[in-house]
Amino acid sequence: MKVPFLDVRSAYLELKSELDRAVARALDSGWYIFGEEVARFEKSFADYTGARFAIGVGNGLDALRIALMAMGVSEGDEVIVPSNTYIATWLAVTQCGARPVPVEPDADTLNIDPQRIEQAMTSKTKVILPVHLYGQPAQMGPILDLARRKGVRVLEDGAQAHGARYRGMSIGGHGDAVTWSFYPGKNLGAFGDAGGVTTNDAELAERIRTIANYGSKVKYVNEVCGVNSRLDPIHAAALAVKLQFLDDWNARRVEIADYYRQHLQDTNVRVPAQHPDCASSWHLFPVFLQRRDALQASLKEAGIEALIHYPIPPHLQQAYQFLGFKKGAFPIAEALAETELSLPIGPHMTLEQAAYVCETIADFQ
Ligand SMILES: *Cc1c(COP(=O)(O)O)cnc(C)c1O
Repeated sequence: MKVPFLDVRSAYLELKSELDRAVARALDSGWYIFGEEVARFEKSFADYTGARFAIGVGNGLDALRIALMAMGVSEGDEVIVPSNTYIATWLAVTQCGARPVPVEPDADTLNIDPQRIEQAMTSKTKVILPVHLYGQPAQMGPILDLARRKGVRVLEDGAQAHGARYRGMSIGGHGDAVTWSFYPGKNLGAFGDAGGVTTNDAELAERIRTIANYGSKVKYVNEVCGVNSRLDPIHAAALAVKLQFLDDWNARRVEIADYYRQHLQDTNVRVPAQHPDCASSWHLFPVFLQRRDALQASLKEAGIEALIHYPIPPHLQQAYQFLGFKKGAFPIAEALAETELSLPIGPHMTLEQAAYVCETIADFQ
């Protein structure tokens, strides 16, 4: 049996006629930047996440960078980031000229440990940037309490958490703003690069919109040094169709995740812990074991594609040598990078495939 890591083509085929129609409508409109398709998707995505405003941008990294710019982050500022995340979270901070200040995760929830944030804060801290890693929400309650007490902003990286819930409420309505990626492999994915920001703050929404459009509200009148990062109507049209199926598709991910959690209990891999406040979107299903590379190879031999998220933590990347962190600086992130393996999961995976993955893992010595 073959088990691909994620089957994005099946997602297209399931909704082919609706998607084809939506994309054709966008093409036929003769309007290829902004316009109705974008406005319609922004409105439905805002409603879906429970935020007042959604602003489409070019991709998830731009969403982070533009949101930080709109929060006034610049040279000399510090931003609290998880020590274990995809590098985009850090890149957005350094692109603003600010310094990422890493905080270790809780080894069980795999998300930034709220207990460790305060001691990492200084008078230069401007924003706390938690990531809802693998789709499981970070501990927003304690993080928001701390941020309010300290007078700093909270920006959430929701790139992996479309449809995830914290204390019963969708990711999107909690902090100051949430950034989203609609990269094809995400839970809500476009047919190319796309991203967005949601917020309840009208002023922030306006600044984000302005920065993303060359720093301009009125054509050829530029208020700030902005960037060009916009959501294309073609992608917006497709995303609006897919958004209607997101909850169904996430429910199918939950089924696979529940199956894994139940059937991997007595094997030598550790499955992720679930916090009672959190309902994960199960963007990824990470397991942990010492002999990770050997398991990955043995799954591959059995036709199962498992991937590592992420093999090198940002502080040990060559790109971030200039920050001066040495190996051992963030031992929890480093241990996770050495032992993590993401099993296949997605709305178009079958329980038979999940069973085969579990059997193969049980047979692994
Ligand atoms: C995918 C991802 C991003 C970046 O999104 P792009 O659309 O690829 O730029 C940022 N943060 C996290 C946690 C991601 O998984």
